[in-house]
Amino acid sequence: MNKKISVVIPVYNEEEVVEECYHRLKKVCEALKNKYQHEFIFINDGSKDQTLKILKTLATQDEQVKILSFSRNFGHQNAVTAGLKYVTGDAILIIDADLQDPPELLPEMLSLWEQGNDIIYGKRKKRKGESTFKLLSASMFYKALNLLSDVEIPKDTGDFRLVDRKVIEVINSLPEHNKFLRGLFSWTGFEQIPYEYERQERFAGKTKYPLKKMLKLATDGIIGFSTKPLEIIGGIGVISIAISIIVLIYALLSYIFEFGNLTVGWTSLMVSITFFAGVQLISIWIMAKYISHIYAESKCRPQYIIKEKINIKEG
Ligand code: UDP
Ligand code: MG
Repeated sequence: MNKKISVVIPVYNEEEVVEECYHRLKKVCEALKNKYQHEFIFINDGSKDQTLKILKTLATQDEQVKILSFSRNFGHQNAVTAGLKYVTGDAILIIDADLQDPPELLPEMLSLWEQGNDIIYGKRKKRKGESTFKLLSASMFYKALNLLSDVEIPKDTGDFRLVDRKVIEVINSLPEHNKFLRGLFSWTGFEQIPYEYERQERFAGKTKYPLKKMLKLATDGIIGFSTKPLEIIGGIGVISIAISIIVLIYALLSYIFEFGNLTVGWTSLMVSITFFAGVQLISIWIMAKYISHIYAESKCRPQYIIKEKINIKEG
């Protein structure tokens, strides 16, 4: 029996690109037909446009097109997580629908997989058509993440990767919600190697990752992979107490030995009050983030709700 490739594609309002995405992927997989079977798992993440309709038409023409359709938008990471639960292949390709990650790279990635690498992650050499803001914020995020976290998370990497089935089985067995997949792949400790490629411009449509979703992904990544922010809060607390003791001693000495003029100290007083109020609020915010994650995990609500499955055999 031939080996099988499963392609996992999360889609959210991608009516302009989804068909082209299918055709490009199909072409690549047809060329590999002699060695590998294939299946495409599209996860419709609550699209409000024609995406699902287009997918359904494709699914009637090609039974290798499988669809999981969510009841509403649950987010990109949850869409990929759901797709991974339904893969039946030996190697799994995770790819965006917008063709920023070219499907034509699959054959080369497969040969790296055949050489025994468990995770081949796409590393972006150049990022075409992305704003300076996105590039700058992404680079800051990965610096912060790697400074704070205990596992090495490769920078300039998205979720575009080819992964061996055994790694997917580990990921699927993790009970946690709020999965930050690219962190978890590193965390599993399986052999991973970078595959450098040039990230293309979106084929059509706009990014489905507005700043709000990017910030959520960033905080999920940091909180899921590090408790260092909590220790930093402690450090800042100790420093601020030390500063206040020094100020107190200075005030006492100036009172006893009658130097300086304390009433002039209004400005410094205001500055320190507002500064430390800020420190406290930031600390509380960080704590609140951790607590909200614990809360989300403890509620045990599902990460997503599948409304419809097409061409998927249960079992
Ligand atoms: N996506 C999704 N749910 C969301 C946001 C995005 O399934 O809530 C999908 C989207 O359709 C695309 C992939 O995730 O296939 C990456 O999104 P996008 O290309 O908009 O992100 P960017 O490349 O701009 O970071
Ligand atoms: Mg994109």
